[in-house]
Amino acid sequence: MWKLFFAFSLYLVMSGCSKDGEQKAGSDGDVSSRIIRVVTTTGMIADAVKNVGGERVDVTALMGPGVDPHLYKASAGDVSKMSKADVIFYNGLHLEGKMTEIFKEMRRFTRTSAVAEGIETSRLLSPPEFNGNYDPHVWFDVTMWIEVVESIENTLVQIDSAHSEYYSNRTADYIRKLEELHEYALSRAVTVPEGKRYLVTAHDAFNYFGRAYGFQVLGLQGISTASEAGAADVQNLAHVIFEKKIPAIFVETSVPSRSIKALQAAVRARGFDVKVGGNLFSDAMGSEETPEGNYIGMVRHNIETIVTALTN
Ligand SMILES: [Zn+2]
Repeated sequence: MWKLFFAFSLYLVMSGCSKDGEQKAGSDGDVSSRIIRVVTTTGMIADAVKNVGGERVDVTALMGPGVDPHLYKASAGDVSKMSKADVIFYNGLHLEGKMTEIFKEMRRFTRTSAVAEGIETSRLLSPPEFNGNYDPHVWFDVTMWIEVVESIENTLVQIDSAHSEYYSNRTADYIRKLEELHEYALSRAVTVPEGKRYLVTAHDAFNYFGRAYGFQVLGLQGISTASEAGAADVQNLAHVIFEKKIPAIFVETSVPSRSIKALQAAVRARGFDVKVGGNLFSDAMGSEETPEGNYIGMVRHNIETIVTALTN
């Protein structure tokens, strides 16, 4: 059923293009005298492409604030946008679990780049609950995100080599900011007493964050949000929080809060008053007009929220 729908919408899109006499999108056309059309899945990737590409790119992110990429299904409109793009940047490592088929199809029409799949595999985590696959949440370690930014630069230079200097200057400026951000996060993390550096959230998005900034991460739901936490998971984690007197647990903006509320109730039932420490941006950023609507603001918000809740 899905394949039929996909084939049909793709047919409409592609036949629409040829009727208009539009040039086929893709890597083979000369783009040096026009703006490059970019489609990304998450907002984080869109933000990175804008920082590298500046005025040379027109970026459309398919997934807005609060959208969960693990569950996201492409609409006919998305397929249309992707097929007209010069390049599609997506995370890969199965983050966009329901779009694998589409990316495969799209490769016949345009250039695609899975930005997280260019990271050295020795840096990737492969937690047991993800059945041999790599953890896709690479944006939580700023030094890994720098690798992603460099890979985006490489791709844009391949498409538009006439402007390679423009891209490399912008990339260097942005990487300087990211390096500052990384140092800032490290300096904030160490202000939390060592025995309190636990990060409890609804799903295991924060493993790279924990490794980079020194927190032990305890998630309720496993790597993907596709399976919900069971009652036994809630009780086991409630026990750990009670034993270690972890002061706060966190809600994520792209995951329903009910499992974290259930966890809080289970800890309180044991006689320890654990707080909900605030909202973390995990798999999506904030709205565009807010400070959390870009990657740097999102990381700053998360580290501030975590540090404040665990130290007070
Ligand atoms: Zn996730």
